[in-house]
Amino acid sequence: MSLTLDASRVDSLISFVDRRVRKNGCDHTHRFSEEWAHDESVDWHDLLDILEANGCFCDCEVVLNLPDGEDLETPPMARPADRGNPWLLPPGFVCEPSAVFTKVIVCQEGLGRSTYAMNGELLVPAPKGAKSRRRVRKLVNFFIGCQSGLPSEVGVIRQCEEISALDFARKVAGAGFEELAAFTYREAGFVLSRIASLQPSMAVGTDFADRVGVASRHVELTVHRVIMTP
Ligand SMILES: [Zn+2]
Repeated sequence: MSLTLDASRVDSLISFVDRRVRKNGCDHTHRFSEEWAHDESVDWHDLLDILEANGCFCDCEVVLNLPDGEDLETPPMARPADRGNPWLLPPGFVCEPSAVFTKVIVCQEGLGRSTYAMNGELLVPAPKGAKSRRRVRKLVNFFIGCQSGLPSEVGVIRQCEEISALDFARKVAGAGFEELAAFTYREAGFVLSRIASLQPSMAVGTDFADRVGVASRHVELTVHRVIMTP
């Protein structure tokens, strides 16, 4: 679905959020925008697409950055259907942008072959078809280091400060690598939820696996524990 907010609703949103932020402050989330969407029966994820497309990544930025006096539409590129599914998330996977995680995947020097990323840097799975900047095995997918852009076949789990799916996605997409630019909170939520129950320092790999269902067959991203043999 796409959403058009006419100018009067845009103004209603801005003044609603403005009042709340003046009274309660901004906690760097969209809690008041989301409250407005709920009150107005506006689809929250559609509204979030509009807000992000206009540089509004929290409530105070809605007040500061959202253009008033004009109709606003969901940006065509922000729609999952238009954007495609470069990481091949399972169909129907849903995640709240505000979902919080406390573990990430980082590179560990010398862990297995094909570890080119820097020691300790954040890793995320490469999207389907991404070209690796170093030679890696073709049999499995690889991770990309968010600082170096270099590949690693394996990573390790590390405990981190609480981070929301949206903040994690912004960090990854903002890293400056073209192949990571389309990484959204949905990809973040998928990857981070896969590793949420793993113990720190466990090794993980990533792949695209065939899933055969009753009516369909598709390929989807996996992030899974790997046992390292010396
Ligand atoms: Zn803010």
